[in-house]
Amino acid sequence: MSDKPMNQSRRDAVKLVLGGLATVPLMNLVGMAAAQAEELPHVDPATDPTAQALKYVNDATKSEREQAKRDGLPPNEQHCANCQFVLADSGEWRPCSLFPGKAINENGWCSSWTLKAA
Ligand code: SF4
Repeated sequence: MSDKPMNQSRRDAVKLVLGGLATVPLMNLVGMAAAQAEELPHVDPATDPTAQALKYVNDATKSEREQAKRDGLPPNEQHCANCQFVLADSGEWRPCSLFPGKAINENGWCSSWTLKAA
């Protein structure tokens, strides 16, 4: 009996398993990013030291964006959703590079606001 067909099927099985194993981490990363945005604690401007240092507020209309004179957009158009540092394209609450492990409001603003690159 030749073991050639057996080796081929063994190779096919190994490829199938390895292909499946490679897919699982990718699916986990995508799932984790979406889940993180949903599950991260919200930045509390009243208690978060970084928020206070950066003058972050959940409602940009109540921010100091007029006085800050950040370049890129008129102050009344500046908010977290169009900032370079926001880490998701959708969602009311999103991760931000400056608040690791927490979520900012898409309508928020802080003094580090920078127009998102096109
Ligand atoms: S860095 Fe940008 S996205 Fe993050 S809190 Fe400040 S304005 Fe919002």
